[in-house]
Amino acid sequence: MNQNTLNSMADAASLSVSSALADAAERFSRLRQDIHAHPELGADVPRTAGIVANLLREWGYDVYTGIGGHGIVAQLKVGDGKRSIGMRADMDALPLQERTGLPYASQIPGHMHACGHDGHTATLLAAAEYLATTRQFDGTLNLIFQPDEEGMTGALSMMEDGLFDRFPCDAIYAYHNAPGLPVGMAVVQPGPQGGSSDRVTVTFRGKGGHGAIPHRATDPTLALALTVVALQGIVSRNVAPVDAGVISVGQIEAGTTYNIIPEFATLKLSVRATVPAVRELLEQRIREVVTYQAASCGVTAEIEYQHLVPAICNAQTEAAIARAAVASVLGADKVIQVPPSTQMGSEDFAWMLEKVPGCYFVLGNGTGQWVGCSVHNDGYDFNDALIPLGAACWVALVQGYLITDDT
Ligand SMILES: [Zn+2]
Ligand SMILES: [Zn+2]
Repeated sequence: MNQNTLNSMADAASLSVSSALADAAERFSRLRQDIHAHPELGADVPRTAGIVANLLREWGYDVYTGIGGHGIVAQLKVGDGKRSIGMRADMDALPLQERTGLPYASQIPGHMHACGHDGHTATLLAAAEYLATTRQFDGTLNLIFQPDEEGMTGALSMMEDGLFDRFPCDAIYAYHNAPGLPVGMAVVQPGPQGGSSDRVTVTFRGKGGHGAIPHRATDPTLALALTVVALQGIVSRNVAPVDAGVISVGQIEAGTTYNIIPEFATLKLSVRATVPAVRELLEQRIREVVTYQAASCGVTAEIEYQHLVPAICNAQTEAAIARAAVASVLGADKVIQVPPSTQMGSEDFAWMLEKVPGCYFVLGNGTGQWVGCSVHNDGYDFNDALIPLGAACWVALVQGYLITDDT
C-alpha cells in the first residue's frame, strides 16, 4: 500500500459511516448485553457461535462453521479485487463470578465476560452488517470469530484446521479494549504489542522425614524458598534495563502438616517477555537458578517448561495501515504509541501474526466504574459506546485496504 492510499484513508470523512453505525448502535449494544448475560468458557462457545453464524448468514456472508471447534469464518467477496483481509474477534468468557449487578449481568454462576470479548464480537458484527449492506470495497473480506482466546488454544486450533489455507489473508487484524484509556483513544504501533507467555512447573524432590529430625531428611521446601528469592534477581540483574521481562510466582505447594518434612515441593511460574531474545534468556536463567539452588540443598528438580504463546509483533506496513484507518475515525491526535513494556499481557492472536503479517491494536474502553475496571476483574464491563467507534475503525480499515489495488 502506498502513501497516497494511506493519505486518502486519513482524509476519508467518516461521518457517514459513524451515523449509519450510530443508528445501529442500540441494536448491537443489546446483542452485546445478551452475549454478556450468557457467557461461555474456553472452546465451548456453541450459543455465541450460533448467534454469530446466523446473523452473518442473514447478511449474505458465506459462513463456515466448526473450524477448530466452534471457530467461524465469514467470507464476503465484492468486485474482482485480488486483496484479502482477515479481521478477528474472540468469543470466550472467563471462570469468574460477576459482581457488577448490572441488569444484563451474567446469568451463569461462575462465568463472566470479564475481558470484553462480548464487545469484540459485537463490534465486528456491527462492522460486518454495515460492510455487507454497503458493499463498498473491492476484494475478499474474511471475518474470523475464534473460541478460547483465554486458554490460548483457539487461534492454534483454527489454524491447525486450515484457517489460512482455506481462507488466505494478505493481512490480519484484531483489537482489544483497554479499560482506563478514554473511549475515542487508541494505541496502534508497529513491533512488540504484548508479551510472550510461558508456564513453568518445578518439582523439587528430597527425602521426607520427621520435623524434629531434619538432618535425616533432605528438605525440598528450603530449595523452593531459596529459588523463589533467587528468581527475583533474574529480571533485575540479567535482563537489560531497556528490555522487559516478568517472572511471577503464582503457586507454591508443599507438605501436609506441621511436623512432616515433605518429599516434594512444587512451584508454578508465569514468565513474560516482549522479544524472543529475552524470552530465551529468561528460560536459560530460570533453568540455571532452579538446578543450582536444588543442588545446593541436595535435592533434585524437575522442570516442565511450557511455551504457551509468542509475543505479539505487529508488522510495520500493516500497523501503518491500521493507524491510518483508526486515525481517520478518531483523529490522528487520539492514536498514541506506548512503550511495549507497559503491555505484558498475552494474546493468542500472536500465533496468527506469526503466520500472516498484521496488527493487533488497542481501543480505549473508558474510565470510571465498571468500564475503567481492569479486565479479568469481577467488576469489569465492556463499554457499549465503543461498539460504533470500533466498528467504524473496522470499516475504515476494510475500505482502505480493499479499495485501492496499487500492487
Ligand atoms: Zn482476557
Ligand atoms: Zn481479552
